[in-house]
Amino acid sequence: MITGKTQLLGVIGHPVEHSLSPAMHNAAIAHLGLDYVYLPLSVKPEALATAIAGLAAINFTGFNVTIPHKQAILPLLSEISPVAQAVGAVNTVWRQGDAWAGTNTDIAGFLAPLQAQNRDWCSAVAVILGYGGAARAVVAACAQLGCPIIHIIGRNWQKLQQFYASWNDADISSKLQVHAWDKLPQLIPQATLLVNTTPVGMHPHAEASPLSNAQMKLLSPEAIAYDLIYTPSPTEFLQQAEKQGAIAIDGREMLVQQGAAALQIWLKQPVPVEVMRQALHQQLQRE
Ligand code: NAP
Repeated sequence: MITGKTQLLGVIGHPVEHSLSPAMHNAAIAHLGLDYVYLPLSVKPEALATAIAGLAAINFTGFNVTIPHKQAILPLLSEISPVAQAVGAVNTVWRQGDAWAGTNTDIAGFLAPLQAQNRDWCSAVAVILGYGGAARAVVAACAQLGCPIIHIIGRNWQKLQQFYASWNDADISSKLQVHAWDKLPQLIPQATLLVNTTPVGMHPHAEASPLSNAQMKLLSPEAIAYDLIYTPSPTEFLQQAEKQGAIAIDGREMLVQQGAAALQIWLKQPVPVEVMRQALHQQLQRE
């Protein structure tokens, strides 16, 4: 029951109607029997600063940040974690006195299913398709894992150069190499970790894949293929990779784990990850 004592959490984005976060967080809150509620909050880009001040004024405990605010919110925060500074994006914000502090739990979310794999990451070669917002968290995560080489592949050379230049963390940029899409045949055989961060293959275009069958046939059976897309599951990309004998990981666990890491920050206690996982799967089945 919502009362005057109920503490407020939420996600700001635009659009935010299809966010899966309220289902996950409210299920965990109900399971823990806590007096919190998690709300989807539609905030247009031009209203971001006003909205953040408003959330402080009405005593929000914390909130998630999604497209298009993940980068724009940085100057509005009084403290930003080193990991979020390195990525240049924030997805989780909490109260710091009268101000807001932020971090990025997408990195922990992306890493969780990889850490369950028994691998020597110090010799791993990461090949990442795409250079958008999600790719930034993936690059930081691969560097954190210890991958010595991180290849980024994209279809626009100018954007690839901008992506490379945008990193001011020397540890990350020393590992990063950018390549045009036509270099895929040389790079795929080297991949220990192949990550799709493009939306190619996402519902309703489930038949699409960023790689042709011939390109995927170059993937080692020892590799891990990771698709950030969470619907459909598995994507065409992951089905192709499984045919090669590779391990396939979809984007659902990343979504669950970034949410669990955020909720833990706000509640300052362990959170029921399995309850969040089940709530996400049920919500995806409803859609
Ligand atoms: P974004 O910022 O729009 O970036 C998309 C990237 O994909 C860009 O580099 C874009 O390149 C590239 N791309 C798009 N279409 C392409 C094509 N046909 N061929 C080659 N490259 C193409 O999006 P994002 O926020 O990074 O999200 C990307 C995907 O990750 C989405 O499917 C999203 O749902 C998923 N995601 C999942 C999670 C999770 O928790 N599982 C979290 C974040 C994101 P151009 O700029 O050249 O178009």
